[in-house]
Amino acid sequence: MFTLSPRQVHLDFHTSEKIPGIAEDFDPEVFAKTFKEAFVSSVTVFARCHHGWLYYPSERFPEMIHPNLVNRNLLLEQIDALHKYGINAPVYITVQWDYQAAKHHPEWLIRKKSGAHEGEPFSSPGFYQSLCVNTGYLEYLERITDEVMEMLGDKLDGLFFDIVGNRACTCAACRAEMEEKGIDYGDDAEVEKFAKFTMDRFKNRMSARVKAKKPDCSIFYNAGHVGPIVHDSSDAFTHFELESLPSGGWGYLHFPATARYARTLGKDCLGMTGKFHTSWGDFHSLKNQAALEFECFKMLSYGFASSVGDQLEPCGRLNPATYKLIGNVYRKFAEREEWARPSSPVTEAAVVTPEDEIKGGIPECIRGAAQMLEELAVQFDIIDTEYDFSGYKLIILPEGLKISEDYAAKLEAFARNGGKIISISDGGLCNGNYPAFFGADYSPHPEACDFAVANELIGKELWKGNEFVMQLSSAEITPKAGAEILMEASSPYFYRHGTSFCSHKYTPSSKSGYRPCVLKNNNVIIFAHRLFCEYFVYAPKWCKLMMRDAIEILVGKTMIKHNGPSTLQISLLEQPEKNRYTLHILTYIPVRKCSSFDIIEDSTPVYDLDISLALPKDIKSARLVPENIPVDINNGVLHIDFVDGYGIVELNY
Ligand SMILES: [Zn+2]
Repeated sequence: MFTLSPRQVHLDFHTSEKIPGIAEDFDPEVFAKTFKEAFVSSVTVFARCHHGWLYYPSERFPEMIHPNLVNRNLLLEQIDALHKYGINAPVYITVQWDYQAAKHHPEWLIRKKSGAHEGEPFSSPGFYQSLCVNTGYLEYLERITDEVMEMLGDKLDGLFFDIVGNRACTCAACRAEMEEKGIDYGDDAEVEKFAKFTMDRFKNRMSARVKAKKPDCSIFYNAGHVGPIVHDSSDAFTHFELESLPSGGWGYLHFPATARYARTLGKDCLGMTGKFHTSWGDFHSLKNQAALEFECFKMLSYGFASSVGDQLEPCGRLNPATYKLIGNVYRKFAEREEWARPSSPVTEAAVVTPEDEIKGGIPECIRGAAQMLEELAVQFDIIDTEYDFSGYKLIILPEGLKISEDYAAKLEAFARNGGKIISISDGGLCNGNYPAFFGADYSPHPEACDFAVANELIGKELWKGNEFVMQLSSAEITPKAGAEILMEASSPYFYRHGTSFCSHKYTPSSKSGYRPCVLKNNNVIIFAHRLFCEYFVYAPKWCKLMMRDAIEILVGKTMIKHNGPSTLQISLLEQPEKNRYTLHILTYIPVRKCSSFDIIEDSTPVYDLDISLALPKDIKSARLVPENIPVDINNGVLHIDFVDGYGIVELNY
């Protein structure tokens, strides 16, 4: 398996031709030393940027070298200097965004159904007009890639191809191929499918081309998200880079949801954030150090490498403050790496994602599930329906997941052998109904707002008998013989429609019209309500506690329970060759201080933490690392005096 360099910087260099003196202050020695002193082990440097310019002495396309590039050997000198200091230097090549190509070759642009090009108008600032790799553009891209590979030879560590997304296209080339294949390009779904087919083909062919020249070259294609959409083309990747800048539109809910899926694909992963307070291109801002710590340490807590995005200023000089910041975080990262890399996650549950393999994008239920289950300290993966789930104790089928008869049969065998299953609302429907072994029939319950009544089984820590509103539409679950009703929901006097309404929001409970909302049948529990989506939209604590109770009923004690706040995050890794688990504890709290995104400005210490363990192997000793402070274990409970920010407990077995 390809192993990533642990502490990376992704050094953007999208540079306008309207700026003079490009790279005139570049000093290779200062450049490489700055990274070395900031504990950076790999820097992704630019061959070609979104403006469409090249940063190396191209012989094939001399007219595409940045017109104001003072030092034409910039890329080569960057790589040589980095290598001199033992730093890796993979090379960046843009794919779908190239302003020069888009301006001069309208026939290379992705065309929407209307005939207009895809992306932003040329009259607005930005290089966001997308190119189609089924056109003559591909040859241009291949010739540049070949030239970079030939020029660098053995010096080439890797290639990072950016902006490689499945974008529906009906350009002349795509239309011709669709016609040839008998695809109706008037049908949007067919065009989307074709776009995925052509991008998968592009990735596979490009990787074969690269590997033929340099078999050990790392290769990654970036589309801003890794999910089931990459499943069919995953052989084209040597590893996965999970672009997820919490302040850049991704938010703090994205990374766990993509990371817990990506790590099931069998390749090394890194998380990619940025040094920017906001997002890419925000040159003169610095992320708060606590935020950068949290984002990088979160990656390490999953066993991942880290990449921090920066942008080199046009003059070619690195900003010293940026590398002070990155160095402060990467020094601590380096000191803790040995307890996370290499490792494998220890998991007890899996959530099967209903993410669309053609369109991609993380469904709301998966974002809600990731947040809720992390708060409960459940150790879980997110998997697709191709993944072998037999090793988990618990499979969760979230809202919107439809399954095949074949998959239903696999789940039934799993449950028969003692595996546990939780279905959320319509999660797990097969041909429009629950599989027979669920012990219930499904029909939709399109009306929103009814009221789950807490009892001693589900919602046992809540006010018993209290009605808790569930705001989203749900499922009607009709129990069959043998199924046990664990919880009921009451109905409102009437549902709010037209002239029937009461007060500002929903009509309150009529204390009647009860219907089952949680059912158990042998090893299966079904929730009528869309618990994960509710959590994504409103984060009601009662939904989380209802889930916790259902997991406890099915599985018993989970591997990790703690008395810390809900903001505490705990990830369990195993390093079998060192006979140990490592428990990664994070305590940083994102706060909504502004209208745009959540801010972390401080770490938040947690005191007197008790962590109750139920692990597959018995623990002989525990200590906080790298500080080397012994940790007491009593009857399987670790007591930790305090954790400030990031704490790792080494659990030796
Ligand atoms: Zn096209």
